[in-house]
Amino acid sequence: MASDAEFQSLLTATIDHLEALKRRGHRSVVLDPGTLQDLLASPTAPAVQPLPKPAPALSANPSFQSASPLPSAPSTPAAPKPALVTGESPVHSLATSLATSATIRVGLSREEKETAMAALKERALSCVQCSHLAAARKSVVFGVGDIHSPLMFVGEAPGADEDVQGEPFVGAAGQLLTKVIQTMGLSRETVYIGNLLKCRPDTPGGSLGNRKPTPDEMRTCLPYLQEQIRIIAPKVIIALGATAMEGLLGRSPVYITKMRGQWLQYEGIDLMPTYHPSYVLRNQSLATKRETWEDMLAAMERLGMPISDKQRGYFLK
Ligand code: SF4
Repeated sequence: MASDAEFQSLLTATIDHLEALKRRGHRSVVLDPGTLQDLLASPTAPAVQPLPKPAPALSANPSFQSASPLPSAPSTPAAPKPALVTGESPVHSLATSLATSATIRVGLSREEKETAMAALKERALSCVQCSHLAAARKSVVFGVGDIHSPLMFVGEAPGADEDVQGEPFVGAAGQLLTKVIQTMGLSRETVYIGNLLKCRPDTPGGSLGNRKPTPDEMRTCLPYLQEQIRIIAPKVIIALGATAMEGLLGRSPVYITKMRGQWLQYEGIDLMPTYHPSYVLRNQSLATKRETWEDMLAAMERLGMPISDKQRGYFLK
């Protein structure tokens, strides 16, 4: 139980933090339902207007539970404080076209999430902001999976296979990601998978090879991902590869070998950078596979998922 002085100090720090976010252009904050309940129960509750329908706890998600039960609270509350990803980057300052129009997303109900995501998807499907990509694409690859999941994977951009099928991570790298997800005890249907860019970066003559998105393309498309994250409000984001991290951080270069395995925060959400599956496919070393798997184990721990001895031992000699 905090003393009055400690409570006042925490309250002041919270207000300062929210005001700093506002000055930086943020127009929404994500609160989990438990926090919302605590706020509503506080003596200052009249200042907070709840949404009409209370949101279910993420851990009560039946589809996620059926794959691997999640307790209501993470099992590692004493985890080290993560580093903060600041919102001062050029990418973040440009990423306001969707964010500024967002309502305060305080504990969206399942229906409200679904409505918001459907509306966002509709906008993305007809988006032609990058005219060169819109002209070359076969489909807009918006994202796939459970928008109520506490776990979200973020990659960089669709490749040729994804462009044809309209779904992220379906090529060789995607098949490896699917195996990783299954090894965690989950499935593609119980997590959410999205990309920084929703359209395939065009290639000369429409060739099959893939290219890295340009900083300008990433800046233009980032608001869609930001809004997806705000709607889903996952507990953990796993960023796949350096380019995904560059887009989220708004700076480059990012050295994923140095950054992976360390918890960061993205708009208050735990963020784990790790290798892109295509790098793991190219590299094939036991050490790289183990490091990638350790990042997944860390995410499972952060989510409070059960981990068997067999799972802990993968890719150890
Ligand atoms: S990449 Fe993103 S911003 Fe560019 S056209 Fe596609 S959906 Fe629109």
